[in-house]
Amino acid sequence: MDMARAGAGGRGGGGRKPGGLTPEEQAEAELRDVMKHPANAICADCSAPKPRFASITLAIFLCNRCYGLHRGVGAHVTRTKCVALDRWSLLEVQRMRRVGNSVAAAYWERLSLLFPSCFCQIFLLMILG
Ligand SMILES: [Zn+2]
Repeated sequence: MDMARAGAGGRGGGGRKPGGLTPEEQAEAELRDVMKHPANAICADCSAPKPRFASITLAIFLCNRCYGLHRGVGAHVTRTKCVALDRWSLLEVQRMRRVGNSVAAAYWERLSLLFPSCFCQIFLLMILG
């Protein structure tokens, strides 16, 4: 078998155009890139390493435990997705890039300084339901 001829112009991906990514593949690649940011390499809520989930409402990355807490709060407050298993749209990924863990942390910190008691109530409502 002449494998060199079959591999010309591609990496044996089964007829894919070179450089031509589908929107889904593009979103996946961009999401991986967004996750390389040091702030996104830890859970936004508890700082556990290598978060594999995200709240697309809050645009933050979450560990398995905090993902469970967010799911418990309900999709009307925080909609969650798995980084590896769920399908992501480019818009969702771009939002994760724009916000991410560091911008979100700064936002919530500022808000808690401005409205400390209010913030505590909202936080407790989110966590306890
Ligand atoms: Zn966590």
